[in-house]
Amino acid sequence: MMTKLLVIGESREGELRNVTFEAVAAAKKMNADAEVVGVILGAGSLEEQGKEIIRYGADRAITVQDEKLEDYTSEGYGQAALAVIEDESPDGIVMGHTSIGKDLTPKLAAKIGSGLVSDAVDISNEDGEVLFTRPIYSGKAFEKKAITEGVAFVTIRPNNIKPLERDEDRTGEVTAKDVDISDVRTIIKDVIRKASEGVDLSEANVIIAGGRGVKSEEGFQPLYELAEVLGGAVGASRGACDAEYCDYALQIGQTGKVVTPDLYIAVGISGAIQHLAGMSNSKVIVAINKDPEANIFNVADYGIVGDLFEVVPKLTEELKQL
Ligand code: FAD
Repeated sequence: MMTKLLVIGESREGELRNVTFEAVAAAKKMNADAEVVGVILGAGSLEEQGKEIIRYGADRAITVQDEKLEDYTSEGYGQAALAVIEDESPDGIVMGHTSIGKDLTPKLAAKIGSGLVSDAVDISNEDGEVLFTRPIYSGKAFEKKAITEGVAFVTIRPNNIKPLERDEDRTGEVTAKDVDISDVRTIIKDVIRKASEGVDLSEANVIIAGGRGVKSEEGFQPLYELAEVLGGAVGASRGACDAEYCDYALQIGQTGKVVTPDLYIAVGISGAIQHLAGMSNSKVIVAINKDPEANIFNVADYGIVGDLFEVVPKLTEELKQL
């Protein structure tokens, strides 16, 4: 029986990322009666982030503040998280399946000799047995896994488990913990942003993705305009990235980002299996392609057969009227 679960939060520019709140909801799915403890690691004041994770359903929060935690390093975050785990002895630990979650959780799990289920898209508790559903074979099938011994580590795919409703009045204890973070051999000297500003692709509810059919870097402009109207992010197929129409940071698919937005609009993308691996679990898929035989129509909920250079601007204009 899992009675205490830790959620390791992730923040960007001083604010917790949405996947942190999804992780709290995931912990509640593991056991609705468990005590959920939010763990906030970082530099500067973390008190507000501790309070915020509680407003989203955690029962209390622990913060570890140290200048060495300003940027993520597996050594720094690993030491801080391990110290909290040793203090708290939880039954399970939940994190987002993000670049940080993918790096940190296997190391922590290996360190304490525990099992890890990565990239869970759903969690159920069947008569006390916690089952994690995760995609396999590039999303063509799902498996259900259980962790039978030790501390259960799980990472959850962003945008799949709905956060609990934020409760402004919900309060709990926020405790600052001192950890001696000494053994950090790597430091981040500079972060060079390549992805565009705006909505984060992996957390976006709406994605407009362009493929080789977009034909040029300028061809992506109408996609950005549509994304702006819908409050979404722009993504791409590898075909478009290879052709240098956009940055590889936008690539979606087997060797790119895996996304599950509410709405995915594929523009001039043929629907190769490697692309589908990254987006086929999106809730609603719209395909715009001039070839009625394009494979993307086999996974699309709605299809528009037409020239994207006519369809996309018209769609943007129509949506602006709403
Ligand atoms: P194309 O297949 O060339 O399709 C372009 C589409 O645009 C066509 O369907 C065409 O009908 C349409 N079109 C053209 N002009 C217009 C127009 N004016 N209006 C409307 N439609 C138009 N791919 C990924 O996307 N992500 C990955 O992560 C990935 N990983 C890979 C890993 C491996 C190991 C390998 C071998 C391949 C991988 N690929 C990946 C590449 C993948 O196989 C495809 O080559 C790629 O997805 C094709 O991109 P595309 O659909 O943009 O281009």
